[in-house]
Amino acid sequence: MLFQYFILFCFCSTFAVEQILASSACESIHFVSRKEWGALPSNLTEMKLPVHHVFIHHTAEEECFNMSDCKRLVKEMQVFHNVTRHFGDIGYNFIIGGDGNVYVGRGWDKNGRHTSGMNERSVAFSLMGNFMKHLPGEKMLNATKNLIACAFEKKIVADDFQVHGHRDQVCTDCPGDLFYNLIRKWDRYVAGPLPTYTCPYP
Ligand SMILES: [Zn+2]
Repeated sequence: MLFQYFILFCFCSTFAVEQILASSACESIHFVSRKEWGALPSNLTEMKLPVHHVFIHHTAEEECFNMSDCKRLVKEMQVFHNVTRHFGDIGYNFIIGGDGNVYVGRGWDKNGRHTSGMNERSVAFSLMGNFMKHLPGEKMLNATKNLIACAFEKKIVADDFQVHGHRDQVCTDCPGDLFYNLIRKWDRYVAGPLPTYTCPYP
């Protein structure tokens, strides 16, 4: 019981990465592999690890609350990023569904197409939905925090890593007004504009 209270405590809005680590963040995540969601093949470049930044995004699209809907949206997003925008694959490293599952995008060690000026120096996690006027659900928030802690556990991010919203680097609404106000309270959050800030958004 005490252990359960400890986990709940870790999921508060000002969570500490080190506290979540005590319960093995990576093991608590349910990843949906590229094969499972039906990804098209991609040809991506290796990213030099560890990186020092985590960027949080929203997809600014439809939300989903079960695996079959989320898989469909992730597949549609890959086609949009690949064919329409010529990104070579879905832009983000991981995508988080309203079902609390984490859908593998480019994975941990590939350069992304998500945050202009920082694609080779960061990992990006994108929450499915538009969070300008409402917050992501608790399952998504917990999965996001566990994913950040997992990146630390796997040494994908350096000891001194920072967490930002997309808008801290680029002039964009992403990750939505309400969600952005929340992540500003998270552990490791560093506000923008970052020294590499770029505007207008291409
Ligand atoms: Zn974004």
